[in-house]
Order: sequence, then structure tokens, then C-alpha cells
Amino acid sequence: MAHDSDDLYVIKAPKTLYEMTSAEVAAALVHTKTVLIPVGATEDHGAHLPLGTDLFEAREICRRTAVALEALHCPVVIGPTIPFGVSTFHMGFPGTVTLTSSTLILVLKEVMHSLYHHGFRNLLLVHGHDGNLPQMMVAAQDVVNETPDSTVVVMNWMVELAKAYAKGDMLRSKKGESHGGEGETARILVTHPELVDLSKAQEFYLQPHELRKIQSPEHMKTGGGLFYPTRSYAALTPVGSIGNPALALAETGEKGYDAIVQWLTMVIQRDFFGLEG
Ligand SMILES: [Zn+2]
Repeated sequence: MAHDSDDLYVIKAPKTLYEMTSAEVAAALVHTKTVLIPVGATEDHGAHLPLGTDLFEAREICRRTAVALEALHCPVVIGPTIPFGVSTFHMGFPGTVTLTSSTLILVLKEVMHSLYHHGFRNLLLVHGHDGNLPQMMVAAQDVVNETPDSTVVVMNWMVELAKAYAKGDMLRSKKGESHGGEGETARILVTHPELVDLSKAQEFYLQPHELRKIQSPEHMKTGGGLFYPTRSYAALTPVGSIGNPALALAETGEKGYDAIVQWLTMVIQRDFFGLEG
């Protein structure tokens, strides 16, 4: 995608909390008590992707979901993107910024309490980095304990995306891919093509017994029953990514976003607007 300017990327409407004025938030609260909170990370994704990949994805998922819900007359506000997460296992790569688990839990709780203070009652946490899921769940439970009339939900779209991948016609990869691989690279190609350098993409695959602990139907993040905490990505993959990112196409990223957003939209419409999706 070519732009005439020297923009690194383009931010599309609707506004998130960062771009709104306080008066605009007050006006939105007349129509909705529901806020989507993108929970990102700043971490290595290989030489071909920016460190902000996960926060860009989380924001875009929430943006597309808000647009889809608006079309269904279910207005929501997009909250502030949390730029940092628990990325301890990517610290072997320069530029990665990590919070400890307890800090992320506190950040999420204080963001949710702030939004609750202003009148939001449905607080929906949407990750861009599945490594944050345990902390998101703890923070969600704590906020429910601490507020009398909130509804907090952690929305893990990875399960739906894995189902879409399993149908077999979305990814060009024939071998197991994961972090920074074809699928994730494709999604960043959709929104931040100027920040993707496929000439630097490196093909790297894990042994099946290693991949199973990171990315498989057995992993909790994709609906399974196993969770192996990751110690070090640098020890797993010298290039930081897993799979063949050079296979990524923007159209694949669009399909991935469609699968994710369809599920989020269905659940939010059903559970927060009293409509069976
Ligand atoms: Zn990522």
C-alpha cells in the first residue's frame, strides 16, 4: 500500500478513548455502558514485524468489532490500548518491554476501575498477546469482586481463529506456524504494511513436541487443557518468529480478522445487548 505522505501508518475511525475528548466520552456514555479494552504488548516478533505488533492487533480487533456492532445498533466505546504486557519470555530480544504479572494485573484493574468510575459497567478485555490471558482473568475476577454492578469478560478469540485455520484454506503454511508467523504477519500487513519487511522474514520451525507446548489444540489458549509457561523464546527460536512469515498476504489477514470479529460481535451482541446472535 503506497501513501503519498511519509506516514508510517494510518489510524482509522472510530476514535478510541485516546482520541476522544472528555465531553465525547460523556456523550457516548448516554448510549452505552460497554467498553472494549485492547490489551497489547511491546515485544519482538522477528526481524520483519514491529515490536508493537500485538498492541496494533488488539486495537484493530476492537476497532473492527466496534464498527460491526455499530452497524447492528449496539454502540460500544473503544478504551485505551494497553501497550505493555507480560513479555518476560521475549526479553532475549532487544526492545521488548515487559511488566511483571502483578503489575499488569494492577494496571488492568486500575484502568477498569477508572472506566467504571465514569459509568462504564461492561468491561470487555480483548488481548493482542495471549501471554496476558492469565493476568486478564485475575484482574477480571478482582474487579467483579470489588464492584457491585460490573460485568467483566475476557475475550480470547484465539479459539475461533484456530478453528478457522483448521478448516485448512486460510493459511498457505503447510507446517506449524505461530508467533510472528504467516497469520500474524498477514494481520499486520492489513493495517501497517509500511512496518512489515518481508525481505527480512526468516523461516523457522519448531520440532513438533516443542510446537505442541506453544501452539496446538491442546494448549489452553486455543481451547485445550494444557498450559506450559514459556521460559525463553530466544532459546526456542533464534529468529524470534515461528513458521514462514514470507507466505503472508494482506487478504489472509483480512480473513483472520473476519473470523475473530464475527465471534466477538456475536458474543457482545448476545451477552451485552440482549440479542441472540
Ligand atoms: Zn503477537
